[in-house]
Formats: sequence, structure tokens, C-alpha cells
Amino acid sequence: MPSPARLIRGGLVLVGNTRFESVSILVRDGRIKALIDGDGPADVEVIDAAGRIVIPGLVNGHTHSHGALGRGGVPDDATLETFLAGAGALNGNRHVDDLRLSAELSAVEMIRKGCTACFDLSVELPSPSVEGIHAVAMAYHGAGMRAVVAPMISDRTIHQALPGLLDAFPPEMRAALAAIAMPPWTETLAICADAVQRWPVPMDRVRPGIGPAIPLHCSDDFLRACAALADDCDLRLQTHLAESRMQQVAARRRYGTSLTAHLGALGVLSARASGAHGVWLSETEARLLAASGTGIVHNPMSNLRLGSGTAPVRMLADAGVGLGIGTDASNTSDGQNMFEAMRLGATLSRAQAAAPEHWIGATEAFRMATEGSARILGLDRVGRIEEGWAADLLFLDADYCHYVPLRDTLSQIVFAENGAALREVMIAGDFVLKDGRVLTLDETALAERARTAARRLDAANAQARQMADAAAVIVRSFCRGACADFPPASHQRGSHGPEN
Ligand SMILES: [Zn+2]
Repeated sequence: MPSPARLIRGGLVLVGNTRFESVSILVRDGRIKALIDGDGPADVEVIDAAGRIVIPGLVNGHTHSHGALGRGGVPDDATLETFLAGAGALNGNRHVDDLRLSAELSAVEMIRKGCTACFDLSVELPSPSVEGIHAVAMAYHGAGMRAVVAPMISDRTIHQALPGLLDAFPPEMRAALAAIAMPPWTETLAICADAVQRWPVPMDRVRPGIGPAIPLHCSDDFLRACAALADDCDLRLQTHLAESRMQQVAARRRYGTSLTAHLGALGVLSARASGAHGVWLSETEARLLAASGTGIVHNPMSNLRLGSGTAPVRMLADAGVGLGIGTDASNTSDGQNMFEAMRLGATLSRAQAAAPEHWIGATEAFRMATEGSARILGLDRVGRIEEGWAADLLFLDADYCHYVPLRDTLSQIVFAENGAALREVMIAGDFVLKDGRVLTLDETALAERARTAARRLDAANAQARQMADAAAVIVRSFCRGACADFPPASHQRGSHGPEN
């Protein structure tokens, strides 16, 4: 049902992601009808925004809703590959209700931290189900968020994906790991297509996508079929691209070329496709991405947590690659804070380059975290406060310490805000956070359900956890050896040399 017309009056408004003005925002049918100097029409509901800084909602270009129920479950010393090898211990034995619960938990945190839309690669083990995909879609629908819900799928285990890994295990473990197989991709993709055909909620706000997990974890035929399904059904496609050095090393061994060149040869690169992370991309790959319109989502916190490195954001931007920012999951990045991700997007660039002209500035980081990510999601006119754009708005308390005194508002938002000054969140013209409460979900009941589910899942996955811990030692040693001869990219500044 369209929300009633509303006039947001008295706030300091970020217009066009370029300048702050004291204007009123007329909202009708979920969109910004007009920006008005003065009082505006008298026959609409007035929202008093005096003392508020009003900015567009942040858009999370890459996350995994299943991560919320896995909070605290990633070992302190996990790398990407040991984390992936232990995925069954975190995500196994989940019911459809758990998938919805985890997505609701994730949505609550995103809303509380100023995120109004996300690209969710949600996993269900051992393979997706229509019910599971729909449960996640219904969670976002209920939360009132915008989302692309893309089942994260693969047809190879990590032991099949990384050439030589299985041989690194002692015989008894090798036999057990070799026996694990993913379902045939044709079955998996048929389920995804069925889920799209019978989509359970209106597509204007929550729409389906497709998420081939990692190129190496998907056979070439599978990747081609994912791209074809995306074309046929007008879906956004997202994969994890060059997240770790190990992935580029394995790509050289398996494909004889880079990950991006291989995806290009398969026809996966396109304006509807995006890669998450992109930490280990070369300039040649950046040119391929830019030429095809494929975007990249920067996930700085997760990359730091897993020691993956720092994405070459300036190089990608200069090459013309469309960029967004994401949090990644609440397991590997321990939260869903887009303010934090945006701040890291700006500040980490300063550790990569001495010259300030190569840094990511506050305005650039803000645009990546709003309209940049929205383009990755394929959303129409989302991520700016302008006539005709979505009425997805954040209201920050201008009296909060971050803004006292107030000199450079956007700089103070990007470099200081962490969600503590956030007072209200509006999506499509309706409040979803107000008076300290998420209005669309029962947080108390969610917390109780989460604690109960975590106890059950931890008990059910205890044996898998033991296996994962034992395997992690071998996986880490294998990756260290495999990467020894692969030079770190110049933008990594030697922090990921062979000794790592
Ligand atoms: Zn991810």
C-alpha cells in the first residue's frame, strides 16, 4: 500500500550527495516528490526534522544474511580459506525457519545502523530450496527493506576447488573429505529458477538474484548457466572475485589465466554482474571489468578480519569500474555497520598511497556507499536525495557529539559516524526505526529465538566444528605454500608476502 504524502520539514538535507541545504522534502508514493524552500503544501502530514541531518539510506552492496546466526563463530586466526573449509560447522543443520531468523537478525542490525537496502548472498546447505530462498525474501519484505536475495551456490567443495588441496590431507581425512560432493548444478539451478518463477513478495522492493559463490567453486558450465539465467530472468549476479591471493594462484593453475579473464571468456562479465571484494585484481582485470560494466563491492572490514588484504579501490575507480561498499557477513566482519565500512573505504586508501590525490575522499566514499551500491543492486534512483528518487532517508541527531561543532557535515558523517547519532530510518516513505525501536520486527522475540537456535545448532554442528578446526591447520599450511611464489600486488605494500 502506498504511504501517505509527507512533508519532512526543518532538517539539514544532503541534496544530490553534493551539498547540504535547509529544504523540506515532500514524499509521495515512496519517492521524493519535491525539495521545497519554505513551508510547502498544507494538506499533508508534517514530520518535524528540526535538529536532524537528513541523508540518503546507506546501501550494503554485499552481505550474507546467514552470517547473523553465526556471529562469534569465526576463529580469531581464520583466513578466508580456513573459514570456507569450516562453513559446514557454522551453517550446517539449519532449517528454513533458521534462514528466515538469520535474515531478520541481519535486517535489524542493518536498519539500526542506517542501511536501507542490501545485496544478500544467502547460503543453504547442502543446496538451496525454494522454501529457503523465499524465507529470506519474506524476512526482508517483513522488515521493510530493499534487497536482492541471491542464493549462494556452487558445485564444488573447497577441496575440489583448490587444485592440490586434497592431497595435503592425511589419508583418512582425505577419504572423508573426498566423499563430500555438492549436488549437480543442473538441480541447483532448477531450484533457483523455480524460486524466481514463484517469487513470494512484490518485486519492487525485494527481488531475486543469483550468486555463484566463487568462480573456482563453480564449474564452467555452471557459471555459463548462471549468467544465462540472469539474462533470461533479468537478475543481478554476484560472485566473490579475487578475494584472496589463494584464489588468484588457484586460477592460474586451473585456468591458466586470471579469475576475471576466465569469467570474461565464459561470458559472465556484464552490467548485471558484480564481484565482491576484488582485493587481488590487476590493472588488466580492472580494464576488463570496466569495459564489461561489471561492478566491484569493497568489503574492507571482512578483508581486514580475514587478513585478505586491501582492495585497490583507487586503481579500480581510475579504470572506470563501478564501485559499491558492503559489510560482508556478520560472521566474517562481526557486524553489519555500513557507516564503519564507508569510513574504512575512505581511510584504508591512505595506507595504500602516500599522495593525497590517490586517497578516497569523504564524498567519494559516501557515493560508493549509497548510489554506487544501489547501481550494483540494479535499483532505480536509489541512494540520493533528489526529486524522483526513493524516499529512503536517515535522520541523524545534529546535537550528537559527532556534530558538535559542525563544520564539514559530510566529512564528519564519513569519518566520525558509527550509527550512534542515528535516530530515525525511513524506507520508501515509511519509518522503520523510530524512538529507538525497529518498527517492523519484534527484536525481543528475535533475540530469544536466536539464542535458542544457536544452542541447537552448536550442538548439532559440534562434530563438524572439530573437523573444521583440524582441517584449518592443513588448509592454512597448504595455502601458505601455494602462494609462496605468487608476488603480492603492488597495492598490498608487502603486507602479504610469501611469509604470510
Ligand atoms: Zn561474502
